[in-house]
Amino acid sequence: RAKEQGRNTYQFYTEGMQDREVLRLELDKDLSQALTNNEFVLYYQPQLDLDSSEIHSVEALIRWHHPRRGLLPPIEFIPLAEESGRITEIGRWVVMAACRQLAAWKGTPYEHLKIAVNLSGRELDDEKLVDNIREALDAENVSADRLEVELTEEIFIQNIEHNLNQLSRLRQLGVHLAIDDFGVGYSSLGYLRDFPVDLLKIDRSFITDVAERHDDAVITRAVINLAHNLGIQVVAEGVETEAQLTFLKNHRCNLVQGYLISRPIPAEELEKVLAEGILVPGAVMDSGL
Ligand code: C2E
Ligand code: MG
Ligand code: MG
Ligand code: MG
Repeated sequence: RAKEQGRNTYQFYTEGMQDREVLRLELDKDLSQALTNNEFVLYYQPQLDLDSSEIHSVEALIRWHHPRRGLLPPIEFIPLAEESGRITEIGRWVVMAACRQLAAWKGTPYEHLKIAVNLSGRELDDEKLVDNIREALDAENVSADRLEVELTEEIFIQNIEHNLNQLSRLRQLGVHLAIDDFGVGYSSLGYLRDFPVDLLKIDRSFITDVAERHDDAVITRAVINLAHNLGIQVVAEGVETEAQLTFLKNHRCNLVQGYLISRPIPAEELEKVLAEGILVPGAVMDSGL
């Protein structure tokens, strides 16, 4: 806030604010060690295909095993890494780890799975991004169509030319593109015409009350129809209840993701729940294995 208010504004820092600043500096220092110390781990959250009732894809969500603070969620360090620029090397690790996982699944019952990774706008700035992704795929001998990239609408607000070029190159590689948190991004819909989008992920804020609130239901139905008419598939994020699931099924949403199906979990645990086909409690589900 102090920065926004300009140089000549008096700031009265409370001790809480000082503590937070100290914590930030400390986390930033720890972050510089995290890659060398191999402290990051990918958790995977399955996406349930509503047509087949099978899991064909999982989203990779990063966690940080901090040496003193325990397991940290991305909100605690990704914004910091975006500010410092460390996000570029973290993102490179994420892509490599996902490719390694895809390679490890070859010849197992999980080899049909695709992995979606999240990229922030800052990562698209990197001229070497596409080459790095190609090299990671090659190094693990993984086909590009196993990999999906999730981007938020922020990338359609600034550096549009550059980002369009990066995305087209990624898409040419064969990597699929998903728009994350769709509907909350302040960007124009024109990008759906100009960018090669494969998937829209409807933001959780529309899904939470979709089974109770008329307005959320109308918006969600409209997004599904819009996407389908453009040849784009739709994922609903944050599905937690049977009522939401039923609504989404009835309105031909393609995929659902959320705590109802499974929380994000480590790869070994994912393999276990997929093998046991126990992902949706009370619902008929064939894990497809
Ligand atoms: P996202 O990509 O929109 O991921 C969805 C978030 O919602 C995840 O939080 C997931 O754990 C959570 N979620 C899933 N299902 C439910 C549900 O049913 N209810 C509720 N309340 N939440 C649910 P998480 O793992 O804490 O990640 C937060 C954000 O951090 C992600 O949002 C993504 O923007 C970012 N992120 C995660 N991993 C990476 C990464 O490797 N690189 C980058 N750049 N960003 C990442
Ligand atoms: Mg995501
Ligand atoms: Mg999201
Ligand atoms: Mg999000």
